Amino acid sequence: MNVFQHHDRSFENNRYVYPVISRRSRGASIGIDLTHERCTFRCVYCSELAKREGDPVTQEELSASADADKGAHPQALARPAAMDVLESELKSALGLALSGQLFQLAQFRETPPAFRRLNDIALSGSGEPTLSPSFAEVCRLIRRLGDAARGSGEWPAPKAVLITNATALHLPRVQRGLEALGPEMAEIWAKLDAGTEAHYLSMNRARVPFSLVLDNLLAEGRRRPLFIQSMFGVLEGEPPQPAEIGAWIGRLRDLKAGGAAIRGVQVYTSARSSRGGPFQPLPDEALRDIAGRVRDEAGLPAAWYGASGGMGEA
Ligand code: SF4
Repeated sequence: MNVFQHHDRSFENNRYVYPVISRRSRGASIGIDLTHERCTFRCVYCSELAKREGDPVTQEELSASADADKGAHPQALARPAAMDVLESELKSALGLALSGQLFQLAQFRETPPAFRRLNDIALSGSGEPTLSPSFAEVCRLIRRLGDAARGSGEWPAPKAVLITNATALHLPRVQRGLEALGPEMAEIWAKLDAGTEAHYLSMNRARVPFSLVLDNLLAEGRRRPLFIQSMFGVLEGEPPQPAEIGAWIGRLRDLKAGGAAIRGVQVYTSARSSRGGPFQPLPDEALRDIAGRVRDEAGLPAAWYGASGGMGEA
């Protein structure tokens, strides 16, 4: 397994924190798996579905949890984080990455020289991180540790990447977290896998409407610049249809025309599909073509990431 495919979320018996070497981050990314158990989606390609409890979260549940910043809140959608454990794990992983000791560990020894740098702390994981009642508190912790690392000169430009499906970006508690990170630290990678409601339901199998995703992307893109992440693959033996790709590019154009600042579009495919599963990776040439269409038809920068390590910019 090459170092970019090592995305194991278990690291030194940690409960929350797991470093990875990321092609998209072009360096080490320290992941925080904040919401193990819940998601608003049940994506056909998700590698974590087996661990998930219950059905996807609905729009009604999302609204009811809007201000659940505390674990005791009866409408909280996920368990609160044990902040003392998370802080200890995060400090330890940051120390390893900033000192370079991380790259001496067996699983990271093959890291190419250009990637031997800490790029970010990523709020991601095996569920949707914005569903955590601890989201804002964790953002405040990242801000505090990032500021300290910047102050000491160890990490001149600390960055936190939120990897999200965008369904809860409108909630006040999520906005409080992003505000705590501030524009200099917060970077958002938001999912948009479809251009039509039908494809959205096939890919993301959500119980929240597609319009909520689109509305949230537009509103968030007007507040802060976004990267859009879009998954393409062969679903039940069918590659993505040209009309669907056209509709998806239309959504990107609509977001841009509506005033959303889109810094780039990441076209990727599943690297972890099981053989014979319903979702199989798309070949590099097809991903390259889609990224080229984004550049030509939406006027947005695009990059593609293949299943076996290939990547490029359109
Ligand atoms: S949004 Fe992410 S965590 Fe949720 S089902 Fe999809 S791939 Fe899995």
